Amino acid sequence: MMGGNGPLFVQARASAIRRLSEEVWDVLIIGGGITGAGIALDAVSRGMKTAVIDMQDFAAGTSSRSTKLVHGGLRYLRQFRVGMVAEVGRERAIVYGNAPHVTVPIKMLLPIYRDGSFGKFGIPGVAAGLWLYDRLAGVRRKERRRMLDARETLRREPLLREAGLSGSGMYVEYRTDDARLTIEVVKKAVTLGAVALNHVKAVELLYSATRRLAGVAAEDRISGERFDIRAQQVVNAAGPWVDDIRMLDRSRQGKTIRLTKGVHLVFDQGRFPLRHAVYFEAPDGRMMFAIPRNGKTYIGTTDTDFAGDPAEPGVTMEDRHVLVEAANAMFPSLQLTIGDVEAEWSGVRPLIDEAGKSPSEISRKDELFRSPSGLITIAGGKLTGYRKMAEKVTDLLVREASRHGSASWGSCVTRTLTLSGGDFGDEAHFPAYVHKMMNVGVSLGLTERTASALVHRYGSNVQEVFRHLEREVTESQRHGLPMDLYASLQYGLEKEMVVLPSDFLVRRTGMALFDIHAARAHYRGIIRVMADAFGWTEAQSKAQESEMAKLLGLR
Ligand SMILES: Cc1cc2nc3c(=O)[nH]c(=O)nc-3n(C[C@H](O)[C@H](O)[C@H](O)COP(=O)(O)OP(=O)(O)OC[C@H]3O[C@@H](n4cnc5c(N)ncnc54)[C@H](O)[C@@H]3O)c2cc1C
Repeated sequence: MMGGNGPLFVQARASAIRRLSEEVWDVLIIGGGITGAGIALDAVSRGMKTAVIDMQDFAAGTSSRSTKLVHGGLRYLRQFRVGMVAEVGRERAIVYGNAPHVTVPIKMLLPIYRDGSFGKFGIPGVAAGLWLYDRLAGVRRKERRRMLDARETLRREPLLREAGLSGSGMYVEYRTDDARLTIEVVKKAVTLGAVALNHVKAVELLYSATRRLAGVAAEDRISGERFDIRAQQVVNAAGPWVDDIRMLDRSRQGKTIRLTKGVHLVFDQGRFPLRHAVYFEAPDGRMMFAIPRNGKTYIGTTDTDFAGDPAEPGVTMEDRHVLVEAANAMFPSLQLTIGDVEAEWSGVRPLIDEAGKSPSEISRKDELFRSPSGLITIAGGKLTGYRKMAEKVTDLLVREASRHGSASWGSCVTRTLTLSGGDFGDEAHFPAYVHKMMNVGVSLGLTERTASALVHRYGSNVQEVFRHLEREVTESQRHGLPMDLYASLQYGLEKEMVVLPSDFLVRRTGMALFDIHAARAHYRGIIRVMADAFGWTEAQSKAQESEMAKLLGLR
């Protein structure tokens, strides 16, 4: 699709492909969602020669389609899995500490209704449960739960149903941007020497004469070019597609993956003016989230078995009805309709099948499989546990390498490894850093709000984004784009491997989900800039325009 003599960015991609095909890698990871990205970072930071490919964009699978929470594991407490609560709580603190610009603690209300399933425990019962959770998960003192009576609960969130409300528990969850968390992990891995390439698909597996896995045959889905990638070890981190890769390896035996679909809907705050994040029980007894975010409110999720193409799980009218009804039951004064939905997304959970269980009962735990050919598959899991999963996989890679007499590698260092964009000191320094950089942004002509949004999105990398502001004001005017958008796009092209407009609009900026009007206003300008950057023909630009118009609900 990409053609002509597109300059720098095309050359950068071509040279990455050349390296992938000419060198032999200690490890090749199939899949650049949070799981594959985490493994790439762990492996390269122990000194392994590491490559990671994704057949779509990084995080375009499940890792940009979650509820966007780095959970503390409250769900596991309900299942009395005490050890899991402790591990997840510890991991949450690490994920936050390594990149406080991507993850923010937010207060969450858990309303207790006399007719709901928490009602039977009463306020003292829920208080005791949350107390236990705080201790097990090692929640910091200032973030520990508070119990509120009905009056105080309604003062904090007046939209909540009043009838039957006996009070609430207020605890802290960590809100993140799943796609940006993934890209910050990928970028850090690249900084340490990994080669990471999006839009490259593993189409076949390659074996030695003794049927040991030796690499993959890959296809660049942008140019159509085919090439081989040779590697000592191959990891299958293909999320919902892990069984497809195991089929290629003829090792899809034993436990298999079960896909369940989850949908989220986005409303403007003007229509759904939620002040406080709420974790609530839907009429069918399932737990759902309603979360305010940058002038919008999103709710989710559904949980239904899924059998179609995981790349396009889609949203049905039934999905929308379920969520709108759940929102209206909990926030009855709103009387939302499907017509109020501004944007939506759906994703599929790659869960390890447990026969006889309903979608929401299946455990979210991760598991590792090693096939006779040496293919290492990691399946299941959550965003929250990505670092720990990566540690387990990389430990196995290290053991396997030493068994085969290859080099010996060290132990995991990611616990304290700052992600890309996190170089401003620890989380306590972030507010002062935001303030300082906001002033820099304002001095370059941005409003305080825009400057602050950029610092929150890019962390310490905002300095590079600002450099584009200094240099390229007239260019942004030429393309009719706001300065901040143009600078973000240039940074995305240079440092975040933006290849297609949706990479930028959906996953690098989240505009298609949380700022749909700006996305609709500017997608053509964005495509013009990208056409210049990649040397697209008129026909190629038109094809991209029509793709984007569809994605943004304009067609
Ligand atoms: C609705 C929903 C809500 C969720 N909410 C949360 C939450 O709030 N908090 C939380 O912690 N977790 C949550 N999760 C779970 C979490 O999102 C997933 O566990 C996680 O994103 C899975 O990441 P992954 O990297 O394993 O898979 P993916 O992100 O799907 O990555 C796999 C990648 O492999 C690539 N790939 C596949 N085949 C090939 C091939 N042949 N060649 C090259 N590349 C290939 C795909 O393109 C894809 O990008 C949620 C999940 C869903 C569906």
